[in-house]
Amino acid sequence: MTFSRRDFVKTSVIGSVAAGIGATSVFPHASAESGQQGHASQKETSKRPVILCANNGLAYVEAAYAALKGGADTLDAAIQVVKGPENDPNDDSVGLGGLPNEEGVVELDSCCMHGPTRRAGAVGGVRNIKNVSMVAKAVMQHTGHVMLVGEGAERFAVDMGFPRENLLTDRSRKIWMLWKQFNSDRDWWGPGIADPHWEPPAPDKKPQGELWRDRIQQLQQQAASLGIEPEYQLAAVRRILFPPTGTIHCSALNDKGEISGITTTSGLAFKLPGRVGDSPIIGAGCYTDQDVGSAGATGSGEENIKVAGAHTIVENMRHGMSPQAAGMDALKRIVRNYNGDMNKLRFMDMTYYVLRKDGAYAAVSLWEGYSAGHPHKFAVHDGTLRSETATPLLQGYSQEWPPFPPIPEELKKDSEYLK
Ligand code: ASP
Repeated sequence: MTFSRRDFVKTSVIGSVAAGIGATSVFPHASAESGQQGHASQKETSKRPVILCANNGLAYVEAAYAALKGGADTLDAAIQVVKGPENDPNDDSVGLGGLPNEEGVVELDSCCMHGPTRRAGAVGGVRNIKNVSMVAKAVMQHTGHVMLVGEGAERFAVDMGFPRENLLTDRSRKIWMLWKQFNSDRDWWGPGIADPHWEPPAPDKKPQGELWRDRIQQLQQQAASLGIEPEYQLAAVRRILFPPTGTIHCSALNDKGEISGITTTSGLAFKLPGRVGDSPIIGAGCYTDQDVGSAGATGSGEENIKVAGAHTIVENMRHGMSPQAAGMDALKRIVRNYNGDMNKLRFMDMTYYVLRKDGAYAAVSLWEGYSAGHPHKFAVHDGTLRSETATPLLQGYSQEWPPFPPIPEELKKDSEYLK
């Protein structure tokens, strides 16, 4: 089923009236599976090893899977996957080339858990070091601490031999400059969606089509004058209109049943300096228990912290829930935090990746995707590498924050990036 943004707004209104927690019309995919039973789309498998990760890791899974089969440690295999996007200057959600904070500085977060030794490591707000996944592991291995942040984390990384480098690529710098130029009256200061007095923005008086055409044309001209390559200009515009999130989580299970997990990110684009999201928080962005399984998250970090998502999921599985039911329950807690108010929930999204110790896995998301034709995907390898679609809790598509009016259909046709 596909939804346009316009359809979605209609659905939201109905949803917000109907929304009681557990209302089956609001949780179409989850209603049949609130308890311990499996689900049609639940992947039960006794195959091991298994690697499960966010879809931006797809290209790196095959090699990591081979390493795992060859006896590599589960955390090392998971890091081998996430290092791919960390090293890729064109992945602007992680590591090198990540979109910066509002001051133009790239700040990275990561955490990991090693199942076999039941240890954890994390770093938050790290500047100038690309492979923060490895720094998180180094904190675990070489200190008596679990988490280091900011300058201390950077100094520790340098002491451990990680090179300092400029993480702001020219392209990400230009996108940040475009964002500054455009966004002088819109930023992350002031009350957020969680504030009881928050109101959705009033609709603009100008016809939507005109408004969008003006904004997009103006931004494209500015992008050109900043030297952004023509073929990347609309992608840059999209990132300005809808500051993206982006992260990678990976859980790895070997044939002995050992399991580990890691999450790494550059966090929310144009965030306030010093902001850390869920990704470096053990229990939110990642949680692994050797007796049970592993879970990780990508999406609205602030929301995930409040439900301790990854830990909640692992605990749910400990008490007998399937991976999918466990993930859906965490998503429902996010919905509960907003009393099912679709006018707020539509501005957030969340995907959980869940791997149980026996190899059963699931990925679940709050919404179907960020627009029709862009469902939330994840990568899995259990002998065969593939990309699958996460099972959504709510029907429809999330809307980016800060909110903008719906994009007219004719403009959507013009660009892949604006769909
Ligand atoms: N969860 C990340 C954060 O809040 C962002 C994301 O996953 O897209 O920093």
